[in-house]
Amino acid sequence: MTIVIGVGGIGGIFGLFGIACGILVIIGAAMMYVRPEQHVPWSIVILVFTILGVLSTLGGLVIGLIPGLMGGILGLVWKPSVPASPAPSPPKLTIRACTNCGREIAPDVKFCPHCGKGSRIRNRTGLVTKI
Ligand SMILES: [Zn+2]
Repeated sequence: MTIVIGVGGIGGIFGLFGIACGILVIIGAAMMYVRPEQHVPWSIVILVFTILGVLSTLGGLVIGLIPGLMGGILGLVWKPSVPASPAPSPPKLTIRACTNCGREIAPDVKFCPHCGKGSRIRNRTGLVTKI
């Protein structure tokens, strides 16, 4: 990677700058992974700091440049499978409970099969259905 070659060879402030660029590229990649909906700005961050890192540490020209550019470009054109709207909520449970005995009863019965009472049957969602 650019980091190792930068510190050992060219060294000095350019090496430190290369390390900073490498870290920022990694942060950009991590942020893109965490927040796929922000993949475009993070891809730009990756591309910019990949190029800056190459300018500062020439040794990383191939080793650092190619994966960095590929990652950045792929991130830029990436269409994350984030739904535009929140995922459809699962169908509401129609499990109901008898208000008399509290046991579960089928949604289509009028009288509780357990205790025989059936004037009011409570939905588990909190709604009270009068039958
Ligand atoms: Zn009952």
